[in-house]
Amino acid sequence: MAQSVKGMRDLFGAELRWFQHIEETARRVFERHGYSEIRTPILEELDVFKRSVGESSDIVNKEMYEFTDRGGRRVVMRPEATAGIVRAAIQHKLLASSDPVLFYCIGPQFRYERMQTGRYRQFWQIDAESLGVATPESEAESLLMLHSFLKELGLRHLVFSINSVGTPESRPAFHAAFRAFFAQRENLFCADCHRRVETNPLRVLDCKNETCQAALEGHPVITDHLDEASARHHLRLKELLMELGLPFEENPRLVRGLDYYTRTAFEVLSSDLGAQSALLGGGRYDGLVKQLGGPEVPGFGWAIGLDRLAIVLQQVRGKAPYAPPALLIPLGDRAATEALKLARSLWDAGVALQLETRGGALKKAMATANRTGVETVLILGDGELDGGTITVKHMATGEQEIWPLGEVAARLK
Ligand code: AMP
Repeated sequence: MAQSVKGMRDLFGAELRWFQHIEETARRVFERHGYSEIRTPILEELDVFKRSVGESSDIVNKEMYEFTDRGGRRVVMRPEATAGIVRAAIQHKLLASSDPVLFYCIGPQFRYERMQTGRYRQFWQIDAESLGVATPESEAESLLMLHSFLKELGLRHLVFSINSVGTPESRPAFHAAFRAFFAQRENLFCADCHRRVETNPLRVLDCKNETCQAALEGHPVITDHLDEASARHHLRLKELLMELGLPFEENPRLVRGLDYYTRTAFEVLSSDLGAQSALLGGGRYDGLVKQLGGPEVPGFGWAIGLDRLAIVLQQVRGKAPYAPPALLIPLGDRAATEALKLARSLWDAGVALQLETRGGALKKAMATANRTGVETVLILGDGELDGGTITVKHMATGEQEIWPLGEVAARLK
């Protein structure tokens, strides 16, 4: 029997109901904030990610699905959304004026990662990007939107974990201090960290190895090495978050796995996912547009994993808000024809209804209704047809009543 590819799964049933609910909520909240949707292709040229996510990142190093297409192009199945969105904004000259460009994007991403709970090779992200604004106020706006989104989904007790990773100009000062610290205890760090300290010392802070995390005790903190403007920016963001009552904590080890971040980096963790599982992350990327060949335009954005969000919501809220439509069961040939006509008029009136079309015994149809959790069953037999009525059974109570046929649409709505 053929199986789906490892790390890639079929979505349906209860899990997909959560996905749909999350996506609807995202669209409603984001559109309310003036964001509009963008859908970029799954495939991008390899260069788009090499030049943005960065050669020192795990994603580019070892996680991308990349291949040569039939035309000989090196292409990648997108591992994240921001680079493609920025590529699109440049290509379509959306950044030519100084107007902000506010986009959200919902879709699958691909990373060849080790499998574990909430980690897949095809996973879904909801992504929000604000291009063209460099202010801490734009970050506060974006975080408020994120907060409303999570609140409307019913999540509580979420804490924003924030840091500033400075700018490419201010980072060398931190690098020097950090390399000096590292040199004093380098035998405590793993081989990967020895490589990272050369290519991108920030990445050492991010090492998943517990021994390395312990060895980092007392490490130089990047926010102590910020240039003046970045320090002011960071302070202002914290002030705004306090004014707005958005709960946050500072995490000096938070650097995020992508190379393009400048200044603000943040994550939201959820204890419902087990150890160290970030529900979402994001930050500012003021150099990215230029890096991808566009004008000097700043940006801020974040991506939340739909798969993980669905797991958390399932734990916190149980079943997704969804009720199957009423089920209409005809008994006999005459009723089968009339049921199709009745169903058509109900569908045209906007009523949600499933029609039993198998024919045969009522018992079988009722068993299906029980299994699928239908709340209302409508039964149409010869007796009902003669009387211009329909029998209605409420599954939760077992209670039965008779409705005039002409009132079905209004009553079901
Ligand atoms: P990142 O693009 O790495 O910043 O990830 C942003 C969010 O996407 C994470 O916080 C997760 O919720 C989600 N995510 C990243 N990688 C995976 C994966 N392999 N499987 C499921 N969700 C993921």
